[in-house]
Amino acid sequence: MLEHLRSIPASLNSRSAGDSTSFNVSPSHDDHALWMQKMDITPFDFSYLSSLLGQAYKDWTSQLHTPLDRAFTVYSVWNTEGECVGQDPGQEFDPAINVRLLALECAEKKSTLSRSGTSIQGDYLLIAEPLFSRTNRDLFAVFIALVFETSLSETSEAVVRSEALHYRTCFYRRFEYIFMTDLLHAHEQTAREEHRRSILFQIVQRMHDKMDVGAILDEVFVSMDYLYPSANIMLYMSQDQRNFNPRIKPLLVQERGEDICVRSFMEGKLIVSRSEGMERRIIEVGLPLKGKQGIYGVFHIEMNEELIEDSDLQLIAMMADTAGTAFENAKLHEQSHMLIQELRVINDLTQRLNKSLQLMEIYQFSGQELKHTFQADFCCILRLNDSTNRFEVMSTNVKEISHKTYPVDSGIAGYMYQTEEPLIISDYTQFDKVTSSFMELTGAMSLIAAPIRVDGQVKSAILLAHEREHFFSYDNYRLLQMLSIHLGLAITNATLHAEVRRLANLDMLTGLYVRHYLDNIIHERQAHDYCGSLVVVDIDQFKQVNDTFGHQTGDQVLKQVSDIVTSSVRPEDICARWGGEELAIYMPQIGIHQALAYAELIRTRVEAETRPSVTVSSGIAEWNWMDERVSVESLFYRADMALYSAKNGGRNRIVIEEQEATR
Ligand code: GH3
Ligand code: MG
Ligand code: MG
Repeated sequence: MLEHLRSIPASLNSRSAGDSTSFNVSPSHDDHALWMQKMDITPFDFSYLSSLLGQAYKDWTSQLHTPLDRAFTVYSVWNTEGECVGQDPGQEFDPAINVRLLALECAEKKSTLSRSGTSIQGDYLLIAEPLFSRTNRDLFAVFIALVFETSLSETSEAVVRSEALHYRTCFYRRFEYIFMTDLLHAHEQTAREEHRRSILFQIVQRMHDKMDVGAILDEVFVSMDYLYPSANIMLYMSQDQRNFNPRIKPLLVQERGEDICVRSFMEGKLIVSRSEGMERRIIEVGLPLKGKQGIYGVFHIEMNEELIEDSDLQLIAMMADTAGTAFENAKLHEQSHMLIQELRVINDLTQRLNKSLQLMEIYQFSGQELKHTFQADFCCILRLNDSTNRFEVMSTNVKEISHKTYPVDSGIAGYMYQTEEPLIISDYTQFDKVTSSFMELTGAMSLIAAPIRVDGQVKSAILLAHEREHFFSYDNYRLLQMLSIHLGLAITNATLHAEVRRLANLDMLTGLYVRHYLDNIIHERQAHDYCGSLVVVDIDQFKQVNDTFGHQTGDQVLKQVSDIVTSSVRPEDICARWGGEELAIYMPQIGIHQALAYAELIRTRVEAETRPSVTVSSGIAEWNWMDERVSVESLFYRADMALYSAKNGGRNRIVIEEQEATR
């Protein structure tokens, strides 16, 4: 039998009959040949038997060596429905001979029938042999011989019967062969299934071993490449995903329209479409990457349709499912890790920010810290100067822009000043809102930026940039936004503190600095400058002003004199209330004679502008780097002495210290 099986062409359509037979096989049986012979067809299979009967007919004719001359005999096989399923192609029936009728009659009576008659080809004998199944003896076909040699009728019947049996054997061989190939096919299928399952198991294990989102996605590609090397697979992610795999791209729903990926993403299910390509049929699969909490993207697979079966699709779908779950887990893990990191960064930064009340220090420190936290290449923090209405660069690592100022409506800072919103740019070349000298000078491609609000108004801006496009993630952007709030608070605190300090150095009534502040400034300047002058101004007979006009008017006069003093000197000169109705002006980097000119201006203006009119007397002293001992005390003492001389000299006058005398 095996020999025979080998001779049967492999192109045999095994599925047509195989699908119909009911397999309930136990392959554990020792004697395979015997077991095989127990396999049989049942009436349920009859309607599927035509092709098998036809093939068996061909097998049978190829082995035929009948004593009946074939020139006079026409053999045919009929199925239970009265259709001729096998007939010698070289022979034709005389239409007058109704073979079909005999076939049906034989099928009905289930016994050998014969009819004789005369046709244009001569006398004939028609013999019908029923063919029964092996086990249940069900009639499954009728074997008919049309013999034109009527004299041999007895022998003919015997020959026909044996040919019918031979045909039946051929039929069962075919049947067994098909049965076998089906079995083999099923076996192969099971083996493949097992292989797939084991691969899937490994993939699942490997995926769940990983806690890194990128590694899980890479694993999908590696597994897919291994299983389907010719498939073209891409992953389109709906969310911003930092991954350098060129096969992972963002899912641009608007650009793609209603394509398979968008549909699969929207509907959250596997979508398969088959199409005719250039040379082959192509199968296109859209497969969502989804977890319990959402859909993160969609796989797009394109491959030759011949290389993929339904079970492959199931496998790919299972793999995507696993990837989705693993991805979600990893993402959640990453997110919680990141939240902890974020909290840590916020905590560190705020703690360190709160330590400093120096504005400059805060700007400098946060610039460095933010650059480091976000691994940015470039950083720039700007502050809006209310009086000039320009943004000033307070801290940056870009030399070209340090200490530069920009109009309030220009650049990224200007844009955020207008929108009051933070900003993320993935690719500067695509950004068309404003041009930024920060981005252009550095050649950076990506940016995250946030406005810093003080009392609800944009007062500063942080800009962080990187040379590579798509460098910053949405999470970075969010974190920077959060940090900018803390930075805003730190700046507010430092600004308030500076204001308090400034106020502490100012005299309430005159708005001039207090004496102790002046002392400090002179002390500092003496350490760095070459020279400077001190003018002491005292209102003449002020006691009388108070006595005549009252203390309140006295105060007003004092304020008038103070205003005249500040508006008569240079911006860099420091005016202070030295005590009572005595004022002092420290004029850095000028000598006594230049100072005298300013004192003279003050004297004339006071006399002319005060109401009620008062006069002032002044004493002036100077210091320079050549002095043996430079000190604040000596400077004040000498100026005071000069003032004393001015008072003694009749008031409303200026006296410069006695040169060379008291040094
Ligand atoms: P002179 O300096 O010309 O010698 O005479 P004077 O009257 O100005 O000098 P004196 O030092 O005797 O008096 C200073 C007066 O200035 C005494 C005080 O009442 C007055 N004075 C000091 N501080 C204030 C102030 O803040 N407001 C008012 N209204 N008066 C003040
Ligand atoms: Mg006085
Ligand atoms: Mg005085």
